[in-house]
Amino acid sequence: MRQKIIAGNWKMNGTVPWTEELIRELLASNSNNERVKVVVCPPFTSLYVAAKLLEGSHIALGAQDMSQHESGAYTGEVAADMLLTVGVKYVILGHSERRQYHAEDDKLVNAKAKAALSAGLTPIICVGETIEQREAGQTEKIVGAQVDGTLAGLSANLITKSVLAYEPVWAIGTGKTATPEMAQAVHKFIRQRVAKVDSQAAETLPILYGGSVKPGNAHDLLTQPDIDGALVGGASLKATDFVGIINAV
Ligand code: PEP
Repeated sequence: MRQKIIAGNWKMNGTVPWTEELIRELLASNSNNERVKVVVCPPFTSLYVAAKLLEGSHIALGAQDMSQHESGAYTGEVAADMLLTVGVKYVILGHSERRQYHAEDDKLVNAKAKAALSAGLTPIICVGETIEQREAGQTEKIVGAQVDGTLAGLSANLITKSVLAYEPVWAIGTGKTATPEMAQAVHKFIRQRVAKVDSQAAETLPILYGGSVKPGNAHDLLTQPDIDGALVGGASLKATDFVGIINAV
């Protein structure tokens, strides 16, 4: 049985007081579903306070990005061991907004994934096609190349310590969700692609779906055989919505 994961990507939302409020709401509500690993990924500035509030709880902490470098003259960057010191366990890598606005490519995401894994963090590696690529029938070509590129050089053992997230770019923050069948088809394709590296690692690898997941569509997506959870943006900013998704598992 693969671990089900519901991860909230807060993006650039949340001052420290706002973080405290949302985390308190999550802890006070029915967010503990034993079938699910719950993760929240606030901005860097909120990680420390979030970690303090989440200590000893069922909710794990994630970051939204990190540097591929260990330390040094990289202004504005944050290294893996800095994340570890504030209690971070997961790190989102290669989100489409990083690819779009910060020109991140598969090679860089691969270097970040290797740095995260060697530090003991679990990378949540994002892949997904644009609407133009989907309409041109290139979804498998694009996503397949992203999977190959971002996992390049990872042993089967390291792949089993990773998480992938399929996030069609056209579904992120748009209210347009892939149908459960569309998403399942790509998830199955991704698992088969990973199986070319190692079939056992492919079987255990959690593959999350992301793109306008809401309480109302979560159940149908999450009951697909190759969908092992969700990476949630907008709906993770409201406790009742996020808890609704957690309890859809
Ligand atoms: C995301 O940013 O990872 C995401 C899936 O956003 P949303 O849920 O808002 O589409």
